Amino acid sequence: MGFIERTSAKCKDCYRCLRECPVKAIQVVQEDNSPEMHVKIIEDRCILDGKCITVCPQNAKQPRSDTKTVKTMLSRGYKVAATVAPSFAALLPLVDPLKLPTILRKLGLAMVSETAFGAELVARAQRKLLEEGKRPYITSPCPAVVNLVERHYPEAIPYLTPLVSPAVAHARYLKSVDPDLKVVFIGPCVAKKEECTRPDAALSVDVALTFRELWSWVEEDNIDVEALEASDFDPPYPDLGRLFPTEGGILKAAGITSSMVSSDVVAISGIENCIEMISYITSGQATVDLVDLMACNGGCLGGPGAANELNIFARRQRLLDYWQSRRPEPTGGDKQAGEPSDALPESQLRRTYRDKKHKPVEVPEEAIREILAATGKYTPEDELNCGACGYHTCRDKAIACYMGYADPVMCIPYMRQRAESMANLIVSAIPSAIFVVSRDDRILEVNRLAQLLAKQSLHDLIGESIEHIFPPELCSKLRQLVDDEDVFRGLMVLDDRWFDVTIFSEPTQRVKVIVLTDKSKEIQDRERLSQLRNETLGRVEQVINKQMQVAQKVAGLLGETTAETKGTLSQLVKILKDETSNAIGRGEVSGSED
Ligand code: SF4
Ligand code: SF4
Repeated sequence: MGFIERTSAKCKDCYRCLRECPVKAIQVVQEDNSPEMHVKIIEDRCILDGKCITVCPQNAKQPRSDTKTVKTMLSRGYKVAATVAPSFAALLPLVDPLKLPTILRKLGLAMVSETAFGAELVARAQRKLLEEGKRPYITSPCPAVVNLVERHYPEAIPYLTPLVSPAVAHARYLKSVDPDLKVVFIGPCVAKKEECTRPDAALSVDVALTFRELWSWVEEDNIDVEALEASDFDPPYPDLGRLFPTEGGILKAAGITSSMVSSDVVAISGIENCIEMISYITSGQATVDLVDLMACNGGCLGGPGAANELNIFARRQRLLDYWQSRRPEPTGGDKQAGEPSDALPESQLRRTYRDKKHKPVEVPEEAIREILAATGKYTPEDELNCGACGYHTCRDKAIACYMGYADPVMCIPYMRQRAESMANLIVSAIPSAIFVVSRDDRILEVNRLAQLLAKQSLHDLIGESIEHIFPPELCSKLRQLVDDEDVFRGLMVLDDRWFDVTIFSEPTQRVKVIVLTDKSKEIQDRERLSQLRNETLGRVEQVINKQMQVAQKVAGLLGETTAETKGTLSQLVKILKDETSNAIGRGEVSGSED
């Protein structure tokens, strides 16, 4: 099961997530025989930085919820400890950060502790590695950066620090004190949900919640946060480890400065910057000694699981305020920092990495050309490389189509062009003159028949006032359309010809449309038909009269009374007239008397 879930009903196929995904781990597919395309995460490519969650304007993606797992642990009577990420002071909707320990205890957690202590364990181990002289190093606390290296840049694995993350270190420390504990990590990170399932993170964090999941739980349980008293975390207490969520936090926690190493120490956040730095290091050109990489912009303070909307600067200030207020005595804080140096054996801090990159698929050039041609790209000039589909280049998208991750219809310029040419084709083929008129009664667009009718070129017509083209009667009908729902329909004479006139508003484009269909020929045909019918009826009446005379003679010969004959013949005339009219209606009367 994936760590990021999607609500397909909310997804509007805008491809924003695909555009923003740094490793193109999003597939656009048709599901369940539905004609609609929807996005789906390609699990083994995804680095779980959670960018697609934060950028989706429809909130169609969310991290998998694991709150139920924690509730089940509690209901089964397990002793559950929380390791709370140091960014809690900045990323929760709490004025007093120390209300959090009270909230967690109220929810049933037996121990509430700060991950920052684990950060200090890792930072010291990192410092020791540097002192041993192997470099350059890429720090490894950010699980999304680890995923990035393992899944996309395995050539950088030798540079990754072989150390576990602060959460894993802290959970192991807690379990070393009480082996029966279940440990829940609570923080801003989606990738932590996967990290705790890795074999090299065994016997550490059992389940990871985001701050947002925690806050939903608080709201579901109707906890009156205002009414709660603040309380402290359980020891041991960290100090500089509380600065870990900021860029270069590990360096601060370890007390590492550029003077300690031969060349340089660099702290970088934001996944695109991380990718650039990794490529730089693996190219062998970088002269840095230690690079602290964090996937989210601004470090963990920009994490996707934050439960407030503060900007990165306000969050940073909150974090610094909390750190300052907790500095160990005698600098004014309220607690003495713990001593993490011997808290965990070094072997418990070590980890390994695995190359998880898929072998690149060989895509035949012919197949790429064929896919490009399907969207009207025959020459390099046709390849716009606009990125609207989510891929950097048209070629990248063609390769994704070949792999089954994308669909040719995702090319927005091509689809727009196609829609426009379809619309143009239909509009030019319609046997009516079409004028699109602005709200200030000027011509915006016309079709070919409209140009013929107005006897003006397209160039001359565009921008022209309708008064210079149409008679006052039509102009006034157009102006009378006040409501967007209004439609005028009627016959009018223009230029000595009869036109069927339809005028309507198009509210989305804020225009009015005049459709003129020449009915002159139809009207002439109708008049001719009516004349023909009258002539035919006259002739039919003559035939009937003749037949009556013959019938009267026959009746006289048979000795019937004149009155009876007249009545019968009148009836006969009526029947014949009716039949004749019907026959005319069916077009069966030729007009001949024979
Ligand atoms: S951003 Fe992605 S998930 Fe959200 S609506 Fe757009 S395509 Fe769908
Ligand atoms: S979590 Fe990151 S890598 Fe995974 S699909 Fe979303 S944006 Fe792409």
